Amino acid sequence: MIDRSAFHKLSSGLYIVCTESHDKFYGCVINTLLQLTSKPFQVSIALNKENATTQAVQESGRFTASVVDETMKLETIGHFGFKSSRDIDKFADSEYAVSASALPYIEKHCCAWFSCKVVNSIDVGTHILFIGEVEESATLDGGHPMTYEFYHSVKGGKTPPKASAYTGEDDEAQKGSAASAQETSSDDGAKKYGWRCKVCGYIVEMDELPDNYLCPVCGAGKDMFERIEL
Ligand code: FE
Repeated sequence: MIDRSAFHKLSSGLYIVCTESHDKFYGCVINTLLQLTSKPFQVSIALNKENATTQAVQESGRFTASVVDETMKLETIGHFGFKSSRDIDKFADSEYAVSASALPYIEKHCCAWFSCKVVNSIDVGTHILFIGEVEESATLDGGHPMTYEFYHSVKGGKTPPKASAYTGEDDEAQKGSAASAQETSSDDGAKKYGWRCKVCGYIVEMDELPDNYLCPVCGAGKDMFERIEL
């Protein structure tokens, strides 16, 4: 048997991976960066084949990875983690720096960054595992690195369906909370309504959303929320 909760015991950090291809910048969030060797310095990252960033890394043969610290807002993580570079320019309104190899990387609310040249890649089914040799790296002024555990338990963050760590349990938890809310509402006979973010699935219990409401997980605006009965 496979106990999905066992995967929650694996500790990892959160990283923003960026690259450039055909004069366009790409970026996404992963929790799958690992140091492999120190002679030479090599790291691995796993990227979902459906991510626009994955194809861009294949084309450019290079990527940067910034280590997210605990101060990074969910909106920033959501901006890079829950939206597609096919749909938006993730760097249009984002502060970023540029590596010696002309790749973008995120400095703000990150505590270190790496720039890598792809030296090998392995097809692992839904994802491609890229092995990168580190060409440049530095620490930044950020605080403690954000662990995936901290992202979930303290920040209340969600796991996107295309992430390696996705198990579908966020969705089940949301259905569970909606079901228990329904039980409560049936007690007093009054229906409860809320709003669900169509980008990341976040549910907020509120009668009406303010016009300037932004999803606390992915940063999507009010127009991306659908009204649901709880
Ligand atoms: Fe959202």
